[in-house]
Amino acid sequence: MSTTSTNDTLAKARIAVLGYGSQGRAHALNLRDSGLDVVVGVRKGGPSWDKARAEGFSVAEPGDAVKGADLVAVLTPDMVQPKLYTESIEPNIKPGAALLFAHGFNVHFKQIEPRKDIDVILVAPKGPGALVRTEYERGRGVPSIWAVHQDVSGHAEAKAHAYANGIGGGRAMLIKTDFKEETETDLFGEQAVLCGGASSLVQAGFETLVEAGYQPEIAYYEVLHELKLIVDLFYEGGITRMLEFISETAQYGDYVSGPRVVDAATKERMKGVLKDIQDGTFAKNWIAEYNAGLPNYKKFKQADLDHPVEVVGKKLRARMPWLQSDAAKPAEALKKVG
Ligand code: NAD
Ligand code: MG
Repeated sequence: MSTTSTNDTLAKARIAVLGYGSQGRAHALNLRDSGLDVVVGVRKGGPSWDKARAEGFSVAEPGDAVKGADLVAVLTPDMVQPKLYTESIEPNIKPGAALLFAHGFNVHFKQIEPRKDIDVILVAPKGPGALVRTEYERGRGVPSIWAVHQDVSGHAEAKAHAYANGIGGGRAMLIKTDFKEETETDLFGEQAVLCGGASSLVQAGFETLVEAGYQPEIAYYEVLHELKLIVDLFYEGGITRMLEFISETAQYGDYVSGPRVVDAATKERMKGVLKDIQDGTFAKNWIAEYNAGLPNYKKFKQADLDHPVEVVGKKLRARMPWLQSDAAKPAEALKKVG
């Protein structure tokens, strides 16, 4: 952990932010408000082009933004980064400049093999872009992790710190990691617990109740809708906070039944998921799937969309008007997780 202020490192630097989505927009705005010189690189004619211009940025095609930049932040979706690197970054980035990522996937799994004459660093805020921006505006910041993969200039670490400070992360907390740890833990979290684990747990709970003859509407409330209350308590104060708020009956049921559902065998299978991430099996399969035009991805997605919990959920949510207001829409604030 470190909170060293090293903004001088980038004081005279030109920073190219490639991508103006969840992270790109927040980083570009915060860096600019921190007094740094930012150019946004996006495709001409795309929706981000007009948005970044309207928000006062100098905007260029990615290749042109990279030319002359001292630091290039790659904040496009991960799967388009290898092509972006080959076409727009590799031929244009200055020797000694820094290439910065917010997720280590492409470097760690060698989908991008950066030129040997540049620094390669990572700064990833532990929060969605919208929060990175609003916390900065409040004079605070979102804790961020940072790493150095390649240090040619001798200043790679200082550049990562300066960038992390520029987006506000240094006001909260900076944690050192490496590309391997960031990539593998990020993939494991989303697969085993956050996205894959949680959605499969909900679907299995819903099916168990409905197959036992209970009404799908009631099952929906018990296994999906109310999950939000629990997750909010986790977020605020961990499992301790949840235990403070739930009844004694719910606590006793938690203690005796939770470990029957998620048991040692589940944990063994989690280790299998982690092993596939660590040895590259997951990355190899996912890249092949992406390059084949996502045939299985589309099938899996359709099955999730067609699941009975979604059918009943759509009907029930239409009768909960408070969910339609923006304030109640975490997805708008989060934009995306992962
Ligand atoms: P996003 O999908 O919100 O934004 C992507 C942006 O990239 C688009 O708005 C567009 O401006 C641009 N873009 C899209 N396709 C492009 C192409 N083919 N060529 C050039 N530009 C293109 O992405 P995001 O969620 O901000 O993710 C960016 C990076 O940040 C990823 O590496 C991601 O893993 C990482 N990250 C995201 C979060 C998060 O909460 N969203 C958190 C930490 C790290
Ligand atoms: Mg699933």
